[in-house]
Amino acid sequence: MRHHIRLFLQSAIAFLLLSIYHQISIAQSLSRPKLVVGIVVDQMRWDYLYRYHRLYGENGFKRLLREGFSCENTFINYIPSFTAVGHSTIFTGSVPAIHGIVGNDWIDQRTGKHWYCTQDDSVQTVGTLGNVGKMSPHWLLTTTITDELRLATNFQSRVVGVSLKDRAAILPAGHTATAAFWLDDATGNFITSTYYMHDLPHWVEQFNAAHEPQRLMSTPWNTLYPIQEYTESTADDEPWEGKFVGEQAPVFPHNMPAIYAQDHEALRYTPFGNTLTLDFARAAVEGYQLGHGPATDFLTINCASTDYVGHMYGPNSIEVEDTYLRLDRDLAAFFHFLDQYVGKGNYIVFLTADHGVAHSIGFMQAHHIPANFLETGTITKELNQYLAQRFSTSPLVLSLANYHVNFNEELIKAHHLQEDSLIQATIAFLQIQPGIEMVVDIRHIGEAPIPQPIKDMIINGYYAPRTGPVVVIPDPAWFAGHAGGTGTTHGAWNPYDTHIPLLFMGWHIPHGVSYEWVNMTDITPTLAALLHIQVPNGSVGTPILPVLKGE
Ligand SMILES: [Zn+2]
Repeated sequence: MRHHIRLFLQSAIAFLLLSIYHQISIAQSLSRPKLVVGIVVDQMRWDYLYRYHRLYGENGFKRLLREGFSCENTFINYIPSFTAVGHSTIFTGSVPAIHGIVGNDWIDQRTGKHWYCTQDDSVQTVGTLGNVGKMSPHWLLTTTITDELRLATNFQSRVVGVSLKDRAAILPAGHTATAAFWLDDATGNFITSTYYMHDLPHWVEQFNAAHEPQRLMSTPWNTLYPIQEYTESTADDEPWEGKFVGEQAPVFPHNMPAIYAQDHEALRYTPFGNTLTLDFARAAVEGYQLGHGPATDFLTINCASTDYVGHMYGPNSIEVEDTYLRLDRDLAAFFHFLDQYVGKGNYIVFLTADHGVAHSIGFMQAHHIPANFLETGTITKELNQYLAQRFSTSPLVLSLANYHVNFNEELIKAHHLQEDSLIQATIAFLQIQPGIEMVVDIRHIGEAPIPQPIKDMIINGYYAPRTGPVVVIPDPAWFAGHAGGTGTTHGAWNPYDTHIPLLFMGWHIPHGVSYEWVNMTDITPTLAALLHIQVPNGSVGTPILPVLKGE
């Protein structure tokens, strides 16, 4: 008996000491990185890490792979796989059903009004004239990881979002951002809105005054290496590639001075849009002295030109290959800058994508792989004719957008139509159209005979006030467009659109690789765990444990 008591006391004391030690060690080990940098490469498919590996330098993508942790099987877990939805999901750990960003734009299902995802008519443009700055994150329903960092540090953390695209600067930076900046094509200036501030900071005015867009567009776009080195791509001149204004053929060298003089948006469609973005990001780090404040700072960077170039030329073009080779160089220079300014090991950088991309239809057909354009405009017109015959009024369908049917609620109400029979008729018409694999009545999706992963992605992407009740799933490799169209797009559930890269590097990140399936929604919970802060208020993801091994 006494022996038992002694044993009990011994283990009780040991337990007590252990828990005191544990508490002390938590107190001692509570440290955070000085800076988190989230880089979202727009339209970067996961396989680009390897497809262009041979010509990458040592300190860009290869440094992330060499020093960092790669989650090789990271997937988007909702549809549609569009830009605003991806950025919102990465930084909220949530899905459109909860964060509310169901597309780059949508139709309010109640009023029939069209909304752009960051449109905010209550704020004003700062830094230029017009409506390009009337933007804010007010349509985003949840907090972001960047909001949670601000909340966790009593707003001592600075959060800055940078992109050429308004939505890709605004949504990642969240509701409480210090600042978000995006490009005004007309002036070539980075701008913002009164949501954030009333005047541009001095460092932004200085950056704008240097006219970097004009400088970047002052010489032709030629390939970085001799063109015969581009062995991962098709010939330079292919019929499915788009052309710049005034160009006879989609071939190098692209005469940027002449093209830019006619169309300032052209800068976005070159790798130099990424160069501009990363140069501005560097100016933002210095301007706000990010990584040198009292708390962890967070910079979100979107490299959008990869998306523009991809849309125009398709993923098998020399233009896309060259864009990644140049981005690789720009990233290497940016990491080097962070090493100097913040200190190697003091910051975390993570890199992912908002979505991938489909092959160009023409490319697929040239190689006998089934693919074609889903002519959504024609389908909508014919659907309205079909419904007009049955319900004696038109147009009952406003659009087939984001792969959902938007009904004309006003007309339905005015004519006292039965929504149920309208939906049934719509499905009956759509499901026999070529290129449509499935049509789903979202109200009865539980009973629908569709594979579970796609079912989950539809449910995750459905937010009733902004999404129509009928979902269309095209055949694999088909996408909305017109016959003979050039370039390509994204938006579907298929792996080419949803398999994205995910790499972490730096502060407390172990070197390694995992082939486990993880979702885009797991990125933010992983960051929350690393930073010891709350996950955002709509987060449904789970932390990626192997990334936390260095903790
Ligand atoms: Zn895109």
